[in-house]
Amino acid sequence: MVTALADDSWWYDLSGVNAALVDDGGTLTLVDTGLPWHGNELIAGLSEAGYELRDLDRILLTHFDFDHVGGLSAFDGVDVTIYVGERDAPLVTGDQRPPLGNHKGAFQRLVSSFLDVPANDVVPLADGDTVGSFTAYHTPGHTPGHVCYVSEVLSLGLLGDLVREDGGRFQPSPWLVSYDTDSVARSIRDFAERAPDFEVAVPGHGIPFQKNGSEKLADLAATL
Ligand SMILES: [Zn+2]
Repeated sequence: MVTALADDSWWYDLSGVNAALVDDGGTLTLVDTGLPWHGNELIAGLSEAGYELRDLDRILLTHFDFDHVGGLSAFDGVDVTIYVGERDAPLVTGDQRPPLGNHKGAFQRLVSSFLDVPANDVVPLADGDTVGSFTAYHTPGHTPGHVCYVSEVLSLGLLGDLVREDGGRFQPSPWLVSYDTDSVARSIRDFAERAPDFEVAVPGHGIPFQKNGSEKLADLAATL
């Protein structure tokens, strides 16, 4: 099931993890792909929003994690381009394996055997790179290559696991699932400072905000 967040964006609630669908000025964009068994639900969501599978043009990934890249191979037969932060890109393509020397990396290494390398091209993004109306913001901490995406035209922020929503407010990504929590806090402050204002904010977990998204983020940044 998808829920409309605005005229051009929809939220997938994939039992505990979020994905989003965005019509970026006619370029249909999926943001994150849930767990390996969410492929069919992601494809069903396209038709619920009024599109067909072949309409899908691109996939933006906020980061490499089991619950955000899991459904990627469901799109192997479709001509889409996959975008991901440059530090996480070699993990998506299987060119690198997660590091065992970090608690989060070791967990990623453990579950990465359940992930298939996608057939579609993977394009690495640096901080400030743009894809359609989206700008990528490198926000390391949860993973080294984590990025948030903001579209000023759509007034939409895709926050991945930089933060999660809990009880109507944003919280930083917790230690257990992060590479480095000091870096998460720095990234939240830095991103809140640099990004333009946006109304709709979709975190990787929890309920998206349809209004005052960047203000909610600024509220959290002020406490860190
Ligand atoms: Zn996650």
